[in-house]
Amino acid sequence: MRISRMAAIATAAVLAMSAAACGDGSDNAGGGGSADGIVGKAASGKLVIGVKSDQPGLGLQTGTTYEGFDIEVGKIVAKGLGLDPAKVEWKTTVSANREPFIEQGQVDLVIATYTINDDRKKKVAFGGPYYVAGQDLLVATASTITGPADLDGKKVCSVAGSTPAKRIKEEYPKIGLQEFDSYSKCVQALGTGQVDAVTTDDIILAGYAAQAEYAGKFKVVGKPFSKEPYGIGLKKTDTAGCKKINEILVAAVADGTYKAAWDSTLGKGGTPAPAGPTAADLANCPA
Ligand code: GLU
Repeated sequence: MRISRMAAIATAAVLAMSAAACGDGSDNAGGGGSADGIVGKAASGKLVIGVKSDQPGLGLQTGTTYEGFDIEVGKIVAKGLGLDPAKVEWKTTVSANREPFIEQGQVDLVIATYTINDDRKKKVAFGGPYYVAGQDLLVATASTITGPADLDGKKVCSVAGSTPAKRIKEEYPKIGLQEFDSYSKCVQALGTGQVDAVTTDDIILAGYAAQAEYAGKFKVVGKPFSKEPYGIGLKKTDTAGCKKINEILVAAVADGTYKAAWDSTLGKGGTPAPAGPTAADLANCPA
């Protein structure tokens, strides 16, 4: 019974494949992508990518333009999918709405300092990681705080739906956690003394510390206490799209476009580009 059902499914799959091979053009354009997958979507000339809008160096919106490393990674992926990067529609996401945006189809991809973890993998798939950050603290320049253990009874700001906020709640319950929907609001609260520290990924905090308006005011403690591998989120069922993203990332490292993406954004402050992922690092796609 089971075998004959499987045989029937296999026959249907072969028929579907040959229909696609005949080039009826109705779906599966681009080869291998399911109708609602990113491979077919990009081939039809559209791709919506969810990005952050207030994280300098990573995803920053000025007027209608977005810039930063995550945006450059998005352009690399679009190009690798055969789409003119100018045709990408960028959409602002915050930490808490990334999984729902993907699940509801409001975006095709999320490239937004988005940590790959098992909880999130229950809802979405992840290409990558294309970078590995670590949770750290942003404090006033004169502060003597050296890590989360110094923050008992103090106020720390992070963002709802983020892994750093979750870690503070679970592992440092004596810290008074203030949650906003974006890190820029946390940094403002640090500036006015409403909180003693901001916590999120080191690379995000470094971007705020380097902003002209905060020059000399803040420092990143520099002792990361987690690993935050950044993934490219997409529909959980889009295995073909996920594998294609990983192929694109490996190719971008090999041809120097990954390094160029870094150098034109986060690398402007002088930090050399990371080596970037190898094929062996990219082991997150659903089977
Ligand atoms: N990488 C962490 C996360 O995905 C923190 C940064 C963010 O909130 O975007 O939750």
